[in-house]
Amino acid sequence: MIFFHKSKCCVCTKNLQALKLRKTYRCKMCHQDVCNHCSENRIQLYAKPNDFVKDFKLPQRVCDNCFQDYSYQQQLIQEFGLKWNTRSLLQSKWIGKQDKKIKMEISISENDKEMIAKDVLTGRSDAFLFNYSLREFITQCQEGYDQTYIRESINKVLQLFVTHYPIIGYCQGMNYIATIFLCISDEEGAFQIMNHIFQSIIPSRFYSNSQGATLIGYQAEIYFLKTILKSLNQQKIEQLSNFLDISGPQMLLTLMLQVLNTSSLFITWEEMFKRQSYIPIDQAIILTLFQATKCYDLNQQGLIEEIGKIIKYQDLTQLFTKEDAYFTQFERQVQIEQYYSQTSRSWVNDDKLILFRLKKITNFDTEEILQIQKEFKKYCIESQNLSNNKQEQNSIKQINKFQDNIDDIDMENLQIKQVKSQKYGITKEAFINLMEQFHQHYTKYQILDRHKYELVFCLFDENKSELLDFREFLTCLSVLLRGSFQQKIKMFFTAHTGSNLKAQEFQTLLSIIIPLDLQQKEDYQQFLDRIQMPQYTYQDMLLVSQDPFVLENEYQRDRSQTSIMIAQSLNQIKNN
Ligand SMILES: [Zn+2]
Ligand SMILES: [Zn+2]
Repeated sequence: MIFFHKSKCCVCTKNLQALKLRKTYRCKMCHQDVCNHCSENRIQLYAKPNDFVKDFKLPQRVCDNCFQDYSYQQQLIQEFGLKWNTRSLLQSKWIGKQDKKIKMEISISENDKEMIAKDVLTGRSDAFLFNYSLREFITQCQEGYDQTYIRESINKVLQLFVTHYPIIGYCQGMNYIATIFLCISDEEGAFQIMNHIFQSIIPSRFYSNSQGATLIGYQAEIYFLKTILKSLNQQKIEQLSNFLDISGPQMLLTLMLQVLNTSSLFITWEEMFKRQSYIPIDQAIILTLFQATKCYDLNQQGLIEEIGKIIKYQDLTQLFTKEDAYFTQFERQVQIEQYYSQTSRSWVNDDKLILFRLKKITNFDTEEILQIQKEFKKYCIESQNLSNNKQEQNSIKQINKFQDNIDDIDMENLQIKQVKSQKYGITKEAFINLMEQFHQHYTKYQILDRHKYELVFCLFDENKSELLDFREFLTCLSVLLRGSFQQKIKMFFTAHTGSNLKAQEFQTLLSIIIPLDLQQKEDYQQFLDRIQMPQYTYQDMLLVSQDPFVLENEYQRDRSQTSIMIAQSLNQIKNN
């Protein structure tokens, strides 16, 4: 299996063929060649199959790197008493105490259920499929448990997760993450840790199994990593970029577990939990790639497991002592905002691919999209010119005001503000004006509840940029104005990757989607009482769409004129 370093010791890198007198060996854990001197330790291995181990009862020769990693694993297992599907103190060390009991009842879409079953019950999450080091760790934790039981518990955690995050749904890679968490906690705990990383660590719009969603969070991260790598290693940037494009998902979406050995992974994840941030993963990726360019030709295939073998956990411990290693939080934010600016501008291009993508996430046809897009673009260019002028004056004022004592933080905020102002989008104020125009002229409902539309704006402003870019704007219109009730709810969740809605948010959305004359009917209040809940998941909302009130009054607004009216309204707010 090993194509690399054939003739070098994987620890001291001495040329083994040149040292003919010295015998060479193979490490039974990482399967790399190693010299006698660097492989003096013997350990008990567990993970099967292992082509290089004849008798698992005997201790096996391993290289010094693997011995260090293995020792770390043993200490972890002993200190925390790690055992499969058993809650340990490591969980509270990572995410604190979780008192909240979770609803264990499971309602899940058939599609997700099938996908999870395919990835788990058929054995695709079994320990031997993990890298050379994790497979040892996991197998040890799973010692004594029956394979069916093991798979069932992974299955349960994933089903639970997907039920709580229906918009993200099940994505490949989650099965691996869940497996690690089950080594340190029980099913409920593993779910809580997953929940935690998705709520407070992984950037939004990073995962989705819905075809329509643009994974802008993930794309922004890749863009950021490329920029940093370029500044560190100009010469090999092409190789590194290609590698990121191809192996990005295996590194980013599985939080490096396909790359790093157990000790390195745990050091990195612990740091991730400590800082409540994705930055340690970024740092681990950069370190690994940076080191890998020195040893490997990254154009080779099948490197993903190999490149992690050169990283030792001490490298990472050292790295994490410097919070600003490779980049500062500010630099990261600037790059990511820059990416958002760029994409926001790309949504107003009328090229085929963009139109195709927009069509997929809305209920409008191409001609209608073009109509609205044209006016939207005009609006953005005009308002940007205006704000640029204003900003120039302001920043001069500001600098004058601070003179010498303008501190770094102010400068940083100013810079981020500037990048943000390059975005093409519609502000909250303008959006509400637009809706007012539209309602006054084209619908029979004259008065607009501005407060309601403020809330709608926030719901659709997914990356909280205080602007709706064209994509967000179009999905918003689509949800407000197009299709059946059920389609609207579905569309809302395809586009919107935030999870649950609070009662007030959902009721506001309802009061906009359901025509006013229906809201005046007697049974509307009864309907609201029936569906009352503290918060709503996607499943809850689909249930609402099955309520007799909705089914009886299911209606579709006249499609024909909406796009023209919106375009006209856009034109009017410009002239205001
Ligand atoms: Zn050696
Ligand atoms: Zn080894």
